Amino acid sequence: MSQEDRQPDLDTRLAQACHFIDAATGAISPPIHPSSTFARDADYNHVGDYSYSRSGNPSWRVLEQVCADIEGGAAALCFASGMAAVTSVLETVGSGGHIVAPRIMYHGSQDWLRRIAERRSIELSLFDATDPAALAAAIRPGETSLVWIEPLLNPTWDVIDIAAAAELAHAAGAALVVDATVCPPVTTRALEHGADIVFHSATKYLNGHSDVLAGILVSARCDERWAEIEQVRLLAGGVLGPFEAWLLLRGMRTLALRFERASSSALAIARRLEQHPMIERVLYPGLESHPGHEIAARQMTRGFGGMLSLLVHGGGDAARAIASGNGVFVPATSLGGVESLIEHRAAVEGPHSAVPQNLLRLSVGIESCDDLVADLEQALERARPG
Ligand code: PLP
Repeated sequence: MSQEDRQPDLDTRLAQACHFIDAATGAISPPIHPSSTFARDADYNHVGDYSYSRSGNPSWRVLEQVCADIEGGAAALCFASGMAAVTSVLETVGSGGHIVAPRIMYHGSQDWLRRIAERRSIELSLFDATDPAALAAAIRPGETSLVWIEPLLNPTWDVIDIAAAAELAHAAGAALVVDATVCPPVTTRALEHGADIVFHSATKYLNGHSDVLAGILVSARCDERWAEIEQVRLLAGGVLGPFEAWLLLRGMRTLALRFERASSSALAIARRLEQHPMIERVLYPGLESHPGHEIAARQMTRGFGGMLSLLVHGGGDAARAIASGNGVFVPATSLGGVESLIEHRAAVEGPHSAVPQNLLRLSVGIESCDDLVADLEQALERARPG
């Protein structure tokens, strides 16, 4: 293969925003277009491709092109938040539709699913992802319109086989949507495993700096459903601000490095804490002891990410004491940023949470791994009964 034929690697495409060079100025960082509206010429035609920023803003163009490229999709759409993207996809399911989703998943998406099930006569079936036969049993051939999965279930990190889910969904005539927020395309490309649409809360790993709310959808095809999602974005108005689009693209340039570092530190922490007397269990798909390790290893080709949970001895009181007893880990919700976060997940999810009281969710960032280990060990030591 000649140098000209060779497609640059994903890391190169990310770092260079797919070799972006502004045609007008030579700038290698794309311009930000704050304009909400766009002028017409003497013939009353638009001067460029844009009319009004709710239907499209030039600041989205490079971002969406890069997202489509790195996921291997036909097109991408950016949104004002992850939830704006989630709700736009779910808006395409009409009354009488049937949706299948995991029983344990990101609580915000599930809350929205429950809401539309109550209000729009949509049927919702929640399956137990730890039971290998449960997904097949929940899908109704000819009736199910959409299957929604997370390859790693938040916050237990149980693993769902994307390819197997795609096969089941497609055999029943349903579309498969994958929330790949914690499995960015440097490690998992869900469309290659058969997903129809891949979703990211870009607030997390894609941006990576805890300073932007954004959502990204990438579709395998530009089909009817995709056109409808774009129409929903336009009408409901969950659009990404131009500055946020620019920040997100800037953050994405370092995704490969950040994810690699977070993955290696999380694995080191998981291995170290597995033997700790205050720890009942470490939930991390990178550990050989994790029940989903084999599937995770197949679909996460460059690291298992920075998300892990700890089940601690001493119940909720001990867990909360540990969450607030750190000097490096920040006690805050969210994930995928450069700074490590720790949270008592049941408290964050609220009174209806099914998450065990003794579970701590960690988002490992890019700090010194030794500092992170020392910080957790001192917090665990202090919570140990005297
Ligand atoms: N999906 C997952 C897995 C998430 O963790 C989150 C946010 O925490 C969302 C979706 C929603 O994204 P956002 O907060 O950007 O609206």
